[in-house]
Amino acid sequence: MDYILLTPGPTPLPPSVYKAMSEPILHHRTSEFGEQFSRALEDLKYVYRTKGEVLMMTASGTGAMESAVVNLLSPGDKALVHQTGAFGERFTKIARAYGLEPVVVDEVWGHAADAEKLRAALKKNPGLKAVFFQHTDTSTGVVNDLAGLAAVVREAQPDALVVVDSISGLGAEELEMDAWGLDVVITGSQKGLMAPPGLAFAALSERAWRAVEAAKLPRFYFDWRTMRRSLPNKETPYTPAVTLVAAQAEALRLIREEGIENVWKRTAALAAYTRAEVQKMGLSLFAKDPADILTAVNLPAGVDGKKLIKDIRVTEHISIAGGQLHLDGKIVRIAHMGWIKKADVDAGLKALAKRLQPTHA
Ligand SMILES: *Cc1c(COP(=O)(O)O)cnc(C)c1O
Repeated sequence: MDYILLTPGPTPLPPSVYKAMSEPILHHRTSEFGEQFSRALEDLKYVYRTKGEVLMMTASGTGAMESAVVNLLSPGDKALVHQTGAFGERFTKIARAYGLEPVVVDEVWGHAADAEKLRAALKKNPGLKAVFFQHTDTSTGVVNDLAGLAAVVREAQPDALVVVDSISGLGAEELEMDAWGLDVVITGSQKGLMAPPGLAFAALSERAWRAVEAAKLPRFYFDWRTMRRSLPNKETPYTPAVTLVAAQAEALRLIREEGIENVWKRTAALAAYTRAEVQKMGLSLFAKDPADILTAVNLPAGVDGKKLIKDIRVTEHISIAGGQLHLDGKIVRIAHMGWIKKADVDAGLKALAKRLQPTHA
């Protein structure tokens, strides 16, 4: 059964990525695997726009979030999480699970992180070790101005690390790790990077590496120091998901072939198209600062979003995401990143229109 996936992860895969996964399994301590692995990491540096090292983990995106917390912080450290939705809250929960009590700056869902609010919080809470942001908060469809936010952190607290979750952003929404002064940027394989779920990545600045050496929280599987020591041998410390590495290497080859600026432009164009079409249908956008990776749409009062999504999935085989946490049933989220095409978005919009404006469809 063919489904059209319009969900913000997992996203559909290019045909050559499926093909890469049907090749014979490589052993992870061979030069063949090593070449594929290091090529993927080199291509990731290109996508991240960084000269720093990139690490690969066998985990979903949340594993990379946890790895950032345990590798950068020590018991008693002060950290700040600028929350713009469900994924900001996840950073806070992870930090609490390790006994830390982060300062939380909260935005009303649908709004990007506010620079003035951040500036005030930085002034009130000196001595922060790290400040955590989302690039794109997938739960609300918002994009944060990371260049601006990182500059505010640098000015107020030059020693604080800028840590970014770009799990849904990288490879789809513009990001310049080095030029914007980001210290750590984590991501996952299954969104803009057009591979299946199961791999996560972290890119680090030199400052971030110094923090990793000094950090004291407990860590083992996610210890970035161990991963870095394996890099010269083109290896990971433990058995990686070799099939997914083959898939990711091929997907990155496609991104490199297209050119990352062209990927950003293509994604932005499909986003602008989607936003316009939704508004033509008489629906409003949930995000005040909308990202290009997905469009979050308010449902008219009285529409049961959960039932709507299920009906579209069961009868038309199109998967659209609903709202998370308190937005459950109230919004739908239509992704347009990675391998998602205009024809897929059109099919999703048509299915929505048919149910929301039966007389016009
Ligand atoms: C998808 C996502 C995550 C979580 O990733 P999992 O792969 O589900 O663990 C975290 N942050 C953001 C912004 C995401 O979009």
